[in-house]
Amino acid sequence: MVIKEVKAKIIDIVNETHNVKAIKLKILEDFEFKPGQYCMIILNETQKPFSIASSPGKKRYIEFVIKEVGEFTRKIFNLKKDDVIKIKGPLGKEIKFDKDLAFIVAGSGITPLLSAINFMQDKNLKNNVFAIYSNRTKEDIIHEDKLNELSKNDNFKIVYTLTRENKEGYEFGHITKNMILKHVENPKDFLWHVYGSPEMIGDVRTILKELELEVF
Ligand SMILES: Cc1cc2nc3c(=O)[nH]c(=O)nc-3n(C[C@H](O)[C@H](O)[C@H](O)COP(=O)(O)OP(=O)(O)OC[C@H]3O[C@@H](n4cnc5c(N)ncnc54)[C@H](O)[C@@H]3O)c2cc1C
Repeated sequence: MVIKEVKAKIIDIVNETHNVKAIKLKILEDFEFKPGQYCMIILNETQKPFSIASSPGKKRYIEFVIKEVGEFTRKIFNLKKDDVIKIKGPLGKEIKFDKDLAFIVAGSGITPLLSAINFMQDKNLKNNVFAIYSNRTKEDIIHEDKLNELSKNDNFKIVYTLTRENKEGYEFGHITKNMILKHVENPKDFLWHVYGSPEMIGDVRTILKELELEVF
C-alpha cells in the first residue's frame, strides 16, 4: 500500500472520556488503509503516531481516538471543526481475519480493536473475538457501552481489568497468565494481538510466549 501525505478536514471532535477525544476527519484525497494500521498526524512540521480507529469501509473517512498526555496531544485537542491537518500513512501491519482474534489492550491501545470491530461489522465477518482491556479506573475505559453492547453477540467477549480501582465485575491489577487462562478456554485457537504502552506490550508478549500462543 502506498504511503502518502494527505490533507484531512476535521468534521467532528467528540469527548470520549475525561481525557480522550475522538477526532473525525474527512480525507481530502484518495487514501487507503487496513484495520490495525496507524498514521502520523502532522502539526506544524511535528509528527506523532496514532492508530486508526475507523474501518476502511467508509470512503475518505478516518477517525482517531486520542488521549491527552503532553504537548502534541494538547495541540490536537485544541483543533476545531473545519481545521485542515496533514496525515501520513498508512503505516504498520494490517490485522488479518483468517483466524479468530484475541486482543490484549491498554488505554488508547483500544483503537486497533475498534477498527477491527468496525471492519467486521462492515464486512459481516463472524470471527470469534476475545479481548482483555486494561485501564487505571472505570472512568478511563473508552467506549465501554459500545463494547458491552457488542459482547451480547456470541462471537465477542470482553473482560476489563482496572489497575487502580477494585470494582465488582472487573478484574483487578495488571494482566497475568492466570487472568488470561481464567477467561479463555481455548487460547491456542486465537491469533493474539497486543496494543498499549511499550512496557505493557513487552510484558504481555512475554506472557503470551510463555503460554506458547501465536502472537501477531
Ligand atoms: C504505533 C503507535 C500508535 C499509537 N496510537 C495511539 C492512539 O491511537 N491514541 C493515542 O492516544 N495515542 C497513541 N499512541 C501514542 C501517541 O503517539 C503519544 O501519546 C503521543 O505521541 C504523545 O505526544 P505528546 O507530545 O502529547 O506527549 P509526550 O510529551 O511525547 O509524552 C507525554 C507522556 O506520555 C508518554 N508517552 C508518549 N508516547 C507514549 C507511548 N507511545 N506509549 C506510552 N506512553 C507514551 C511519555 O513517556 C510521557 O510520559 C500511539 C503510539 C504509537 C507508537
